[in-house]
This record gives sequence, structure tokens and C-alpha cells, in this order.
Amino acid sequence: MEKRGMSREEIESLLLEKKRKDLAYDKILSSMCTYPHEIAAYAHRMFLESNLGDSGLFRGSKEMEDEAVRMIGALLGNEHAFGYISTGGTESNIQAIHAIRNRKMREGLKEMNIIVPETAHFSFDKIADILSIEVRKAALDEELRMDMNSLAELIDDKTICVVGIAGTTEFGQIDPIKEISEIALERNIFLHVDAAFGGFVIPFLDKKYEFDFSLDGVSSISIDPHKMGMSTIPAGCILFREESYLYELAVPTPYLTTKEQCSLIGTRSGASAAATFAVLKYLGREGLREIVGECMRLTRMLVSGARKMGISPVIEPVMNLVTLSFPAEGVDKVTNALERKGWRVSVTRSPKALRLVIAPHVKEETVKMFLEDLEDVV
Ligand code: PLP
Repeated sequence: MEKRGMSREEIESLLLEKKRKDLAYDKILSSMCTYPHEIAAYAHRMFLESNLGDSGLFRGSKEMEDEAVRMIGALLGNEHAFGYISTGGTESNIQAIHAIRNRKMREGLKEMNIIVPETAHFSFDKIADILSIEVRKAALDEELRMDMNSLAELIDDKTICVVGIAGTTEFGQIDPIKEISEIALERNIFLHVDAAFGGFVIPFLDKKYEFDFSLDGVSSISIDPHKMGMSTIPAGCILFREESYLYELAVPTPYLTTKEQCSLIGTRSGASAAATFAVLKYLGREGLREIVGECMRLTRMLVSGARKMGISPVIEPVMNLVTLSFPAEGVDKVTNALERKGWRVSVTRSPKALRLVIAPHVKEETVKMFLEDLEDVV
């Protein structure tokens, strides 16, 4: 840091210079995040200084957090679920496993494992590290959903949790949560559903999927307002069916206005809770349905355009995510050529494919332009 500060004008021009280096979302097809809704940005700015880590000082913000949690719970089949607005899918996943880990530790279990599908987000590798817990990876079926036989083989008396993904990061696939829920109930195992990506999409799809608290076996869910919920970053949400699991995470907080905290982090943004509250109130279910409907229309348009060029999706898209295989050209070659044309795309691990997320910033024009460039490239 310099001894003397810079002028306001200098800072503004410095910020503009940095802003120009950030990519606009317009040609980004690799991101689950998007431009926040204008009302979310408005609410975020209004509550910039609010700290939910000391929520007795920010009662209005706390009310908005509670109401956002209630609205999200209702969307996921249980308006009486317990949780909080987290920093995103990673924190929510950590806290779900943290809660059941604490419960089992108190009950005297020493060695523990959890089972996730091979498609699980890398936050579960962080969980293995932070919580020192074995994370077993179940194989996938042909449709890239968790294979139920593989799951059954991996479960043993040290298994404390099974994780099903509702909207996988790489393929946008939904695991057979209903079947997993039945096994979880039968074996008395905690079931966490990672709906960080799918939580704001699946309830609005034409095809109906059972994945939420309406299934008795589902114990907790993570869902991210900062992905398809049109809120600002950082906004995730962790929900538990039973309050007692949330309190497995409680730590006493001397000198603050509250008695305890269940969040992983201390100081946390009231702004993104306000943004989440505002955008969910503003859009309502109908507004969210429209956004998802448009993303799905463009997803179908993209797939049908690709098919006309003889390019097939790895799986028939379930959500607003398309993966395309290029056995002849090679995915890396196609990706590099697209990047030279200004597109930001990504590549899945296995099977290797071009991965395209049709987030709300993607417009019909974008899809048409992309298809033209894809045709050029292949
Ligand atoms: N879970 C799933 C299914 C995801 O797709 C992601 C992110 O893409 C996460 C968890 C992690 O979310 P975050 O990056 O908000 O921590």
C-alpha cells in the first residue's frame, strides 16, 4: 500500500481498467453463475454493511434470511425446513456432512464414510480433507446417474451419509433420488441432496422429478440462489429437515448479540440474503418458471442445431446443460477453436465432452451465433 492514497478519479479509472479485463457473461457458456437480477443487485447494494454473523444488530436482514429460507424450503417440499443462507454449494455441502459427522461422533463412531456418485462436485474432495472422512465414489449407470448396485455394494456399517446430486455439475443429470431415499430409510442413513445447480431448475421442468423433502428419506438439501436463483454472489442455502441437525453445528458466540452460530463462517453477508429475499419475492414461482422455460427452450435449440451438424449430446439434456461429443475431431481441438472465436466453454472429465451451460444470460442470438461458429469449427 502506498503512503498516500489516490484520488477518486484515479481509483475509478483503475477500476474500469480492471473491469475491462473481466469477461462479460455474453459469450460465457461454461458458467452456472449469471448476471444477478436487477432487483437482487438493488437489494444487495442497500444492505452492503449488514453482517448476519451478528444478526441481533441487523434484525431486518435476519428477517429476510429467515423468509428466504422459508420460501426456498417451500419450493423444496418443506417450508418448515431449518437452515441458513450460506456462501454457496461448497459451504452447504460441507455443513451437511459436518452435521451428520458431529452427530455420529457424539454417538461414539470413530471411522466413518460417505458415498457420493462419481459425478459429485469437487467440494466433496474438500470435505474428505477438512472433515477427515472417507468419501467413496459410486459408479454411474449408462445415463450417468448414480448406479444403485454400486451404491448398495459400497454401503457398510460405517456409512453415515449418502449424497445424491440433483443436477450434476458436468452433465446436468439427476440421480435416482427416490430410490436412494428408499435405501437411506431402509438402512437408516442420512441422505443429503446436492441441488446447488438443480434446485431452482428441477421444480420448473415439464418432466417431474422427485428429489426434495417430499421424499421421506431426504435429510438435507443444498441449493444455490447465486446460480439459477438469480441472486448475487455469495448466496447458497443449506436446509435440514430436522432442526437438531442444524444444532449439531452450533458454536457458542460470546460477546455477540446471538448465543450461537451454525454457519461455517463468522461475518457473513446480509446483502446476499437481502438479494435472495428480494429476487424470490419479485419473481415468485411464475417468474422462476419463465426463466427456466427460456433456458430449456434454448437448450433444445442448441441440441437440435448440433444434431443437424451430426453432433450428438452425451445424454439427452435433463436440465439447461448440454454436453457434446466429438469422437472424430477431438474435444480439445474443438474447444480451442471455439475459444479462439471468443467463446468460453468447458470440458467434462469422463466421458470427455464439450460442456455448455445455458444460463439465463444466454440469449437466442447467442445460441445462433454459437451454432454458426461451431459449424465453422467442425
Ligand atoms: N454442487 C454442485 C452440484 C455444483 O454444481 C457446484 C458448483 O458448480 C457446487 C456444489 C459448489 O458450489 P459453489 O461453487 O457455489 O461453492
